[in-house]
Amino acid sequence: MAREKLELVEVSPRDGLQNEPDVVSTEHKLELINRIVGAGFRRMEVGSFVNPKKVPQMADGDAVFAGLPKRNDVTFIALALNLRGVERAIVAGATEVNYVFCASDGFSIRNNGGTVEETFRVWPDVARTAKAGGARLSATISTAFGCPFDGEVSIDRVVAVAELCAQQEIFELALADTIGVAAPSDVRERFRAIKGVAGGLQLRAHFHNTRNTALANAVAAVEGGVRVLDGSLGGIGGCPFAPGAAGNVPTEDLLYMFNRMGFDTGVDLDAAIETAHFIGDVLGRKTPGMVSRAPKWPHA
Ligand code: ZN
Repeated sequence: MAREKLELVEVSPRDGLQNEPDVVSTEHKLELINRIVGAGFRRMEVGSFVNPKKVPQMADGDAVFAGLPKRNDVTFIALALNLRGVERAIVAGATEVNYVFCASDGFSIRNNGGTVEETFRVWPDVARTAKAGGARLSATISTAFGCPFDGEVSIDRVVAVAELCAQQEIFELALADTIGVAAPSDVRERFRAIKGVAGGLQLRAHFHNTRNTALANAVAAVEGGVRVLDGSLGGIGGCPFAPGAAGNVPTEDLLYMFNRMGFDTGVDLDAAIETAHFIGDVLGRKTPGMVSRAPKWPHA
């Protein structure tokens, strides 16, 4: 019987590295991206086109895109938070743009430079620009489970923001637990709640492991029908504008677990673990992912 497909989107080159205090060189980023491709990932976030003064780790987006492996079978995602970012991503050659909205005003003002309502004013222009530039567009709703500034975020609010996202032509909608506060019950509830407005859109989940619930949340998302999950090898990551945000869910931990659960991700676990070690070497520290530190299982 063919195993069911599960897509893992590797975000270490973007979400993983963006919060690191020491800027990682373009060369190291490109080596990381090549290793990620080599491990079998076919979709990954490789940069964001945001204010380089605010996020210095991402200042080399153009150089990263220029140096990407020439692979038609791999999608390299550029993240943007405003129209200018989308324009820069297109110029850099991005074929997929992930545009980020927030579910809460407190985070939206700090991360996106305006209230949620204000950030949606450019949404038609963003969609037009992406389309004219030949890039497919997805939307992420950050702080969809809670906000570091406004606290609890209601389900109604998330549904309302999802509805606004779906007003433009996107192929995918993601819910992000930016600060890692969700429990599996929240994940089930919120993905179920947005299905009404998300129509036939592909759904994607983005978890952080701040409170050790990320793996459980990933299972809840998949049991709720989500088939695209973000992960960051080694479990590195965080957000410069979200106090207390810990790393992304470690991709190798997702991979081990969903392999055992019978899903086909197309990714080689050993190569993913080696890549997690490479990240640890580049950053000069032990990364939080667990499968990369555990003995190999099953034994060779
Ligand atoms: Zn994140």
